[in-house]
Amino acid sequence: MRKTNRTVKRLLLLAACLAAVIVNAGPASRVCAAAGEGDGAAPAQSEDKLRPVKIWEQDGVEALAIQDRPGQMDVALFSGPAAPAERAGYFKDGKTEAGVNAFLLRAHGRNILVDTGFGRAAPGESRLMEQLAWLGLAPEDLDAVLLSHMHTDHIGGLVNDGLRVFPKAKLLVSAVELDYWQGGQEQAQKGGKAAVPSPNVTLARQVIAAYGEDVRKFYGGPLNDALELESISIMALPAFGHTPGHTVFSLGAGEPRLLILGDLVHAVDLQFAIPQECAAYDQDQRAAVFVRESVLSLAAETHAMVAGMHIPFPGAGYALKEGKGFRFVPLE
Ligand SMILES: [Zn+2]
Repeated sequence: MRKTNRTVKRLLLLAACLAAVIVNAGPASRVCAAAGEGDGAAPAQSEDKLRPVKIWEQDGVEALAIQDRPGQMDVALFSGPAAPAERAGYFKDGKTEAGVNAFLLRAHGRNILVDTGFGRAAPGESRLMEQLAWLGLAPEDLDAVLLSHMHTDHIGGLVNDGLRVFPKAKLLVSAVELDYWQGGQEQAQKGGKAAVPSPNVTLARQVIAAYGEDVRKFYGGPLNDALELESISIMALPAFGHTPGHTVFSLGAGEPRLLILGDLVHAVDLQFAIPQECAAYDQDQRAAVFVRESVLSLAAETHAMVAGMHIPFPGAGYALKEGKGFRFVPLE
C-alpha cells in the first residue's frame, strides 16, 4: 500500500512538473510545417483487419486496443541527436510500422473511448465504428470520449459532416488544448498577418461546436468525478509538447498501471531508445523530449503498461530501461 501511495504521489508530482513545462519551455523551439495538421501515418499495404484486443484489466475495468487503420511512418519525419545511419537502423527501408489506434475502457456497463482515429476527416478507410459494432456497441452506447489532443487523427471520428457521431458522450479535453484550438492557435501562428484556419483548426472547432455543453475541460489530476467512475483511479497527466495541451492518461491503482501515452511516441523503437528524437509533428520539441523522458522513466520504474496511438497494434507493452534510453517490449 505504501508503494501504491508513493506511486500516486509521484504521478501527481509528475503532472505538476509536466504542467510547469509550458511555463518554462518558452517559445516553440521548432514548429514544423506539419504541426497542427494532424499526424496520420501514410496508408499501409496491409489490408488485415485486426480485431479489438483486451490489453489490460484491473478491478473490473478493462482496456481494449482498437485499430482505426494500419500505417507506416517515414524516417525522414524524425530528427534529433542521432546520426542519420543510427536513426535509419531503427527503420526498415526507411519505414516503420505506425498505424492509428484508439482505446476503449469498459467499466461496469460504461464505455469510454480514448481518442477516435481519423473518421472521415482523411482519405482512406477508418475502422473505429466497424470495430465498435463488432464489440456490440452502437454510437449511443459511448458514455464519454477522452482526448489526448486534438490533431485530426485523434478527433476525426467524433463528427460526420460537422454532426456528432456519439450522441450521448461527454467529451473530456485539456483546458489548454481547448484554448489553443479555439483561438490561441491563431495567435501563435499569425506572425503579423491574418491566420487562415487550417483544416485541423476547422475540424477541432466543428468538434467543439458539435459536442457543445457536453465538452468538459480538465486541468490534470483525477477524472473519476467527470467520468462518474468510482471503481478505478483515472488521472490526466499534462504532457505538453506534442501539442500545447497534450495529455497522458494513467489508469489503475495497483501494478501494473496503464499509461495511455497519446502521441508521446511515433516511432516506438527509435524514440524509446533515443527519447531525444522527435517526430516533425512535435510542436514544441524541447518540451516533448522532457515529457517523453519523464513518462518513460515513470513507466520503467513503476512497471506500468504503456499504450500509444501510433505504437504497432495492439499498441501496448512495457518500457525497460536500457543504456541511456529504453527498450519497448510489446505485449505478447
Ligand atoms: Zn497522432
